Amino acid sequence: FSVENIRNFSIIAHVDHGKSTLADRLLELTGTIDKTKNNKQVLDKLQVERERGITVKAQTASLFYNCEGKQYLLNLIDTPGHVDFSYEVSRSLSACQGVLLVVDANEGIQAQTVANFFLAFEAQLSIIPVINKVDLKNADPERVEKQIEKVFDIPSDECIKISAKLGTNVERVLQAVIKRIPPPKVHRKNPLKALVFDSTFDQYRGVIANVALFDGVVSKGDKIVSAHTKKTYEVNEVGVLNPNEQPTHKLYAGQVGYLIAGMKDVTEAQIGDTLYLHKQPVEPLPGFKSAKPMVFAGMYPIDQSEYNNLKSAVEKLTINDSSVTVHRDSSLALGAGWRLGFLGLLHMEVFNQRLEQEYNASVILTTPTVPYKAVLSSAKLIKEYREKEITIINPAQFPDKSKVTEYLEPVVLGTIITPDEYTGKVMMLCQARRAVQKNMMYIDQNRVMLKYLFPLNEIVVDFYDSLKSLSSGYARDKAHSVGKAVCERLKESLPRQLFEIAVQAAVGSKIIARETVKAYRKNVLAKCYGGDITRKMKLLKRQAEGKKKLRKIGNIEVPKDAFIKVLRTQ
Ligand code: GDP
Ligand code: MG
Repeated sequence: FSVENIRNFSIIAHVDHGKSTLADRLLELTGTIDKTKNNKQVLDKLQVERERGITVKAQTASLFYNCEGKQYLLNLIDTPGHVDFSYEVSRSLSACQGVLLVVDANEGIQAQTVANFFLAFEAQLSIIPVINKVDLKNADPERVEKQIEKVFDIPSDECIKISAKLGTNVERVLQAVIKRIPPPKVHRKNPLKALVFDSTFDQYRGVIANVALFDGVVSKGDKIVSAHTKKTYEVNEVGVLNPNEQPTHKLYAGQVGYLIAGMKDVTEAQIGDTLYLHKQPVEPLPGFKSAKPMVFAGMYPIDQSEYNNLKSAVEKLTINDSSVTVHRDSSLALGAGWRLGFLGLLHMEVFNQRLEQEYNASVILTTPTVPYKAVLSSAKLIKEYREKEITIINPAQFPDKSKVTEYLEPVVLGTIITPDEYTGKVMMLCQARRAVQKNMMYIDQNRVMLKYLFPLNEIVVDFYDSLKSLSSGYARDKAHSVGKAVCERLKESLPRQLFEIAVQAAVGSKIIARETVKAYRKNVLAKCYGGDITRKMKLLKRQAEGKKKLRKIGNIEVPKDAFIKVLRTQ
């Protein structure tokens, strides 16, 4: 393929607006996959993605398409829509020259549409707006067109109106990709310069690096060097993603594909790294800012005897997801474990689910927290900690007030789009969460876009739920209300025991809320009259098995659900 006939593009959208469905149609139209009724989110390979209907890891597919007698190679990179995974989005975009910005014709522009638009805009990519789901009864593509013009300053005649579900106008999308997105600017005669924009780990083949070639050619057998580690590797395999790996002899500048070169873990194929040929060093491409974990939680094996299994599962999974940070930790109640850092709550849940599904591990996760900083108050302390500012990722290690002149917390700039009848309520909610308003604008006759600076801690767990419900009032005294709510949830979720359980919430040593779980024992034999011993044994055995599903702490058993409910309460 001459470079003129290559297009590298990505699909970006708010979650559920139809990226994966559009990707399926594009794969079908180009004959990359057969057209059957079963093509649903083909690029979403992970089980957790299929179950949750979300995309977690960006996937790549090379499509061949004939337009006006010319054969084109279109490299499509699917991206996750959720804010937790926006680091994946920016990575994918660095390998592209253009994007399809998909907007639901019914819902219109949403917060993540705005965030993703700006990622593409800042990367100076060509942006093709695609209004999807025009088949829906309440679809209003004209209104969405106007929103796009108002918020993004894109003329409305540039919008392509489609139904990804039915396939309507999808062909036009492919034509626009060819007409409106420029080919990559690359030089095949120059020495190899390849960007690693993603990497995965395969148990048998080692690291599979997804690469975009900016310059040169790479073939099987070549000796390559990582600009980051300066380590040298021999290339065992190169190929394109179709969307499954398909080996080729070479990869040329302008192409996107994969490369296997005996790298043992993902840290050797750092995302954002540049690969070049041995003895032909090049100026490395600008790397990416590494994703910073913003939500921390303790993770413990249910049973300490499971510690080593869990350890190896966590190691394997972090090899695949380098955005998770791991510190050893231990707790009086839960034993030895780790404190893990995630990009957000969904990221944490997805990680947990992948541990269970892909590694068969079961764990206890503690309430997530955000990192704080404390500015130390005396020279003596600064000497002791060897720093003026300390970062605290574990609430148990929060330094005493007397040691600190100032606490700092992470803040985020949030975008909220709401029908204007709720503007007042949304603003009250934001104020109750200590947010500071930065901007407000009507994006059409009755929708408002608000921008706020939020303390991350105020929104990390349940802000979205509150925003969605906006029904009940918000308590002022947060410590008491949070403490009480957690105790109540625990009381509801804990199975009764033969003895009474006191559930208490404390700030430091001060108890601020208390609930009691009354003593009780479920008598599974209550309805079993007479002397059928085998039936009794069966019932008791079933009860014992039920108990296995509970997670033990000290001498009471806490069902996993209770943990999750507590996480959700604030
Ligand atoms: P993603 O989160 O952006 O990848 O969205 P998906 O492709 O997973 O789609 C989300 C939901 O919208 C799925 O239930 C799709 O079947 C549905 N959907 C996608 N495109 C269309 C469309 O054109 N029309 C209708 N009616 N539904 C669609
Ligand atoms: Mg998807």
